[in-house]
Amino acid sequence: MTKFHILTLFPEMILHGLGSSIIGRAAGKGIISLNAVNIRDYTLDRHGKVDDYPYGGGAGMLMQAQPVYDAHRAVTGGAAVRTIYVTPQGTPFTQRMAEDFAREEELVFLCGHYEGIDERALEKVVTDQVSIGDYVLTGGELPAMVMIDAIARLIPGVLGNDSSAEEESFYNDLLEYPQYSRPEEWMGTRVPEVLLSGNHSKVAAWRLEQSRQRTAGRRPDLYAKYQKKQQLIKRLSAQKRNNIHMMESLSRGRADILYTDYRLNETAVLLYDRGCRIAMMTALDRETCESLADLLPAETEMVLVSEAFARDILLKRQYAVFGEFSQMLYTRRETLPVKHKDIRQLTMDDFAYVHKWYGDGTKGPGTDEDYVRERISAGAMFGAFVDGRQVGFVGMHDEGSLGMLFVEDFFRGRGIAASLEAYAVNRMLERGWTPYGHVAVGNTVSERLQERLGFYKAEKSFWWLEKVLANRV
Ligand code: SAM
Repeated sequence: MTKFHILTLFPEMILHGLGSSIIGRAAGKGIISLNAVNIRDYTLDRHGKVDDYPYGGGAGMLMQAQPVYDAHRAVTGGAAVRTIYVTPQGTPFTQRMAEDFAREEELVFLCGHYEGIDERALEKVVTDQVSIGDYVLTGGELPAMVMIDAIARLIPGVLGNDSSAEEESFYNDLLEYPQYSRPEEWMGTRVPEVLLSGNHSKVAAWRLEQSRQRTAGRRPDLYAKYQKKQQLIKRLSAQKRNNIHMMESLSRGRADILYTDYRLNETAVLLYDRGCRIAMMTALDRETCESLADLLPAETEMVLVSEAFARDILLKRQYAVFGEFSQMLYTRRETLPVKHKDIRQLTMDDFAYVHKWYGDGTKGPGTDEDYVRERISAGAMFGAFVDGRQVGFVGMHDEGSLGMLFVEDFFRGRGIAASLEAYAVNRMLERGWTPYGHVAVGNTVSERLQERLGFYKAEKSFWWLEKVLANRV
């Protein structure tokens, strides 16, 4: 459950504003909690005063440091909790920031009023200063509500349909396409014919084109970003097998480009997926690789590299080898036959089974509770059943690769693993993605299975490296 604490002089405003509709229902179901705290309850002033004149003069009153600080202490107990001061002086709020905040388990929002808050309190408690735009409001309650709404709807389970957040404006630097509902004709205007055709790929192509035109016309700044990504994808496609992980991360709207450089046909690239704190990098030589490594964001948790020298450079920088893998990709557009029929998307009711059997290779089964929970609630896991009993599963990792394949010993050799993989491949193709995955070097059984399904293997080897915490070095 994600906890939102809102420190404010007007808690009723927050509760009224967020208590109904989708966010209110999510709070009712216990997926999120909304704790609106009245800063005035913490003043030591006998008359309940929380503001005073600013030193040096000037218009208006300022909220004093003590009640703000004490309210914050009361909520956090002194623990380091991400605390957002909503202020017109902050970084402009974006969808990306919403995605980042949605990963926290607990957030504090601090709402100012009058002329703002004594700087000393801000220095003590605030981790992020965020604005909702270049205009000044009377108080921080509306900005806090705007941000909480945008963040909460990204938390798994808050929106009914888990993929709906993925197709919206800003998801991939493109604005959403126009949408139509019944009736087919209204005031003489018909719904575009293609939407009635039932042809999914034509619909997808039409929508993409509409999104492009709309973004180019309305938001040229966003469109320039989109085009930069498309250009890079095109360059990377010269070596598709080696680069598919980066191409997919870009085209699915996950990665930011931290660096690109082109020399002849070779490419030096550093991508960063803020959603899962994973970086992907490829470089021609040691020198470039060293400078790419300098650009890795401090919070990076894993890096995927495809050169041995890049691996060695990162090994000297607080990273350890998680594993060596072959990259396999499925480049056809045709869906695969799924022989075992009893396969479906998993829900939280299936959590115990997956948790019991899923092991990420180094830690073994039963150790990755949070990841399994997150993958199931993202709608990214599928299970195979025999006579109503689950016997295996497959999934998509958070950075986008296919994996997590497991079938119980007793049920192996019946084509269930192939069916699970085929099922997941088909789901990815439906979304217009190119399925790819990483098979541990030496796991020839899995490699052959993928090859039988039509996957190709990249020439290069890949290393997943993970950040080693300072206290473990
Ligand atoms: N004197 C302050 C300044 O110039 O930065 C403006 C104070 S404003 C009148 C009162 C409070 O409303 C702020 O402390 C902040 O919490 C909130 N606020 C106003 N406009 C905002 C915006 N665009 N984004 C986020 N918060 C805003």
